[in-house]
Amino acid sequence: MGLLNYRFEHTNVILTSIDTLFNWARLSSLWQMQFGLACCAIEMMATSASHFDSMRFGVIPRATPRQTDVMFVAGTVTIKMAQRIKRLYDQMPEPRYVLSMGSCANCGGPYWEHGYHVLKGVDRIIPVDVYIPGCPPRPEALLEGIIKLQEKIRRESLAKKRS
Ligand code: SF4
Repeated sequence: MGLLNYRFEHTNVILTSIDTLFNWARLSSLWQMQFGLACCAIEMMATSASHFDSMRFGVIPRATPRQTDVMFVAGTVTIKMAQRIKRLYDQMPEPRYVLSMGSCANCGGPYWEHGYHVLKGVDRIIPVDVYIPGCPPRPEALLEGIIKLQEKIRRESLAKKRS
């Protein structure tokens, strides 16, 4: 007879791993850095509004980088703004994530050839986890990007990350 037999007859027991538990909590409460750079930010705001309601995924905007998990880079990254984005990213606690939203943030967009003032992709200054194409991407595309990020977080191991 096993040691645990009949010990939990009147109790519900759930067995899981620490990684699964932590990842479930983290992917269900992705607090978002609240800022936008250009026209893509309008779609980002629409995604937070009641019709698309990104908050049902636990994506809640915060006004300080120190309380955020994910940065949506929504819009044109000018060379002048790039330093500020890097500084905000550096102030986010780890583990932190970045969604590059729209063609401008992905690769310079309409400015890729002649926009001397535009960075040709935000991944030149900070690491990007999910790229969302479009000019601008619709809110459905941003929601899809959020789901992709959640899938990525679900596969992570915090223990391996720390070692
Ligand atoms: S990708 Fe298009 S919609 Fe988005 S910021 Fe650039 S020009 Fe504007």
